[in-house]
Amino acid sequence: MVKITRNHIFLIIIILTLVGVMSTAVAYTGTGFSHNKTVSDYNSLSIKNILDKYNNTTYKSEASGLCTKVYDGDTIYVEGVGKVRLVGVNTPEKGVKGADASKYFVEKLCLNRVVHLNIDDSKHHDKYSRTLAVVIVDGKNLNEILLKEGLAEIMFIPPSEFNPHNWANSDTPSSTNQKTSDPHSGNGQAGTYIGNANSLKFHNPSCKSVPKISDKNKITFSSREEAINKGYSPCKICNP
Ligand SMILES: [Zn+2]
Repeated sequence: MVKITRNHIFLIIIILTLVGVMSTAVAYTGTGFSHNKTVSDYNSLSIKNILDKYNNTTYKSEASGLCTKVYDGDTIYVEGVGKVRLVGVNTPEKGVKGADASKYFVEKLCLNRVVHLNIDDSKHHDKYSRTLAVVIVDGKNLNEILLKEGLAEIMFIPPSEFNPHNWANSDTPSSTNQKTSDPHSGNGQAGTYIGNANSLKFHNPSCKSVPKISDKNKITFSSREEAINKGYSPCKICNP
C-alpha cells in the first residue's frame, strides 16, 4: 500500500492543471489569414452569377469526379481521387473570421457536382497525401476565383507547376463585365491590388514598384478597403 504524502498530492494537482491547460489550448489557426466576406454575400447568388464574371481557364482536365465533401475553402473530397487540396491558395481555418464564407462558396460551386482537376505536375501530393490541384468548375479556375473574390490568400510553396501570383495579378474579367449593382465593385476598381508586406504600401498591379516586390512580401487584396483594413496605405506614385 503506497502512502499518499503531501508531495503526491502536489504532483496530482500539477498533472491535473497541465491536462486542463492542454484541453483548452487554442484552436489551430494556420497562417491566421482572415477576411470580411460573409455567407450572406453569396447565398442569394447563383453559380452562374458567380462564374459569369470569370474567363474560362486554359488548364486542361487531368482527372474528374463527383465532389462529395467540402472540408473547408481549400480542401474537398473528389470521388475516385480522394482528398484534394487546392494548390497555391489558403482559406481561413475553422473558427477564423471568413472561414464560413470561404467554405460556403466552395460548397456552392462544388458539392454534389462533377469537378475537374489539373494536378500539380511538380508535386502531386502534400505531406498529408492530399492531391494538389487546380479545381476546375464549369471550365473556370476555382483557385484563381477564390483569390480574386478575396476568399483566399496566396500560398505559394515551390516546387509547383502553378504560380498563384499570376492568377491574382491577371486581368480581372469582372472589369469587362461590370455589374453596377454589385455592392463590392465600389467605384469600379474591383480589380486586385498588390501589397508589400515590408513597406505596408499597396499598389495598382501596373505600378512600376510591383515587379520589385519579392514574392515573400507580395500580398494580393481584392479591394482598397481590404488593403486599408489590413493596415496598408496607398502608394503615392500609382495612387491605387
Ligand atoms: Zn505604386
